[in-house]
Amino acid sequence: MTPAWVGGDITSRATCVLAPNPGAMTLEGTNTWVLMEPGSAQCVVVDPGPLDEQHLQRVLDLVALRGARVVLTLLTHAHLDHAESAGRFGELTGAPVRAIGAGHAGLGDGDRLTVDGLDLAVVATPGHTGDSLSFLLAAENALLTGDTILGRGTAVVMWPDGELSAYLRSLQRIEAMTGSGEVTQILPGHGPTVPDAAGVVRYYLDHRSERLEQVRAVVAVRGGDVDAVVETVYADVPRELWPVARLSVLAQLDYLRTHP
Ligand SMILES: [Zn+2]
Repeated sequence: MTPAWVGGDITSRATCVLAPNPGAMTLEGTNTWVLMEPGSAQCVVVDPGPLDEQHLQRVLDLVALRGARVVLTLLTHAHLDHAESAGRFGELTGAPVRAIGAGHAGLGDGDRLTVDGLDLAVVATPGHTGDSLSFLLAAENALLTGDTILGRGTAVVMWPDGELSAYLRSLQRIEAMTGSGEVTQILPGHGPTVPDAAGVVRYYLDHRSERLEQVRAVVAVRGGDVDAVVETVYADVPRELWPVARLSVLAQLDYLRTHP
């Protein structure tokens, strides 16, 4: 059995502080990433996580221990397990919070962010949600993927905000980045880091097309009834996840309607 994921120092530039919100959807909890160039006095925090003062304090303590301060906070997307504390963290740090939408200073695909020698590139990866972003830490060939790719299991397309066609395009884009060697490791929003980025993105694409074929087969026999599809195709998934699986099924039915 693999040891439980607890976060910690992952690369020379990336440290994960695990938020105390474990669950079926959040795995061991949300990964709050602290990124800084070695020897720098400024850092970037990605996804401060749920509104939990002790968690935020642990992040600030870690940063203080390194003689640094937070100068920028980024959000991979607006779901509460990643972004609920963004306003409070902004108050505590005085640093701007950037994301797509929700009143934050906007980010867009291809934006470059430089903080005291640390270089990040914004990669728009819609699909899980419309506002999902990934961040490329080129110096480590690492991609911070939020909920687009998780450290274990597979991600969910939160239809109708999330869309399967967009999600597949995002996965293909990440696959191309692994093919070129630009990305070799995934630092996900939940669960352990993935050292084999190419393998995991291939698995995600295979899993998606497998599920899609299963949905197509059920629809052919039983019609497009959402619950019938969930019961059949997601029979292997714990029942507590069926409400979320239902959103993925709706995303797949929508995709099949537009890609017959
Ligand atoms: Zn999440």
